[in-house]
Amino acid sequence: MKLDVSRALKQPGESFPLDAEQAIAPQEIGGETVRFDPVKLRGTYMALEDGRIAVHCTLTATAHARCANCLAPAHADVREPVEELFLLGGDPGDSEIFTYTGQEIDLERLAMSYAVLGLPMRFLCGPDCDRAPEFRDADVDVCLCQKELPGQRPFAALKQLLESAD
Ligand SMILES: [Zn+2]
Repeated sequence: MKLDVSRALKQPGESFPLDAEQAIAPQEIGGETVRFDPVKLRGTYMALEDGRIAVHCTLTATAHARCANCLAPAHADVREPVEELFLLGGDPGDSEIFTYTGQEIDLERLAMSYAVLGLPMRFLCGPDCDRAPEFRDADVDVCLCQKELPGQRPFAALKQLLESAD
C-alpha cells in the first residue's frame, strides 16, 4: 500500500502513527515457495528536515512453506524490527535504498524485504519434526534418546535388581 506522508512533510520532526497492512507476493527462497499472510506494520514515521522519511515500526506476519523435513505444510511467525529511510527522488532502481516521489511512500518492497529477513532458517511443521522420513527408521540415524542400549540404562538395571530382591 501507499502511505500518504503529506501531513508529516508539513511538520518535519513530528512523528505520526503507522498502522498498515500490506499483501506481499509469494517469494522463492532456496527453491521453496514461501507465502505470507498480509504483513502488518505498526509503529511511527516522521519526515526529516531534508525530506527523507524515517520509518520506525515492527513487522509481524505469518509465513507458510513446507516442513524442511517431512514436507507437510508448516508456518512460522515473523516479527522483525524495521528502521528505514525513504529518500526523496532517489534512484528507484537502486535495490540498496528506498525512495519515494511526491507525497507517498510505497510500503510493499519494505514489507517484502523485512518479512524475508525475519524468516527462520528452515520451516518445521512442529518442534518434534527434526528427522527426514527416509532416515527416521534407519538404524544408522536413530536419535540417541530413542536408543535403548542396555548399558545406557543404569536405572533399569537397578530396578530389575530391586525387583528380584523381593
Ligand atoms: Zn515435518
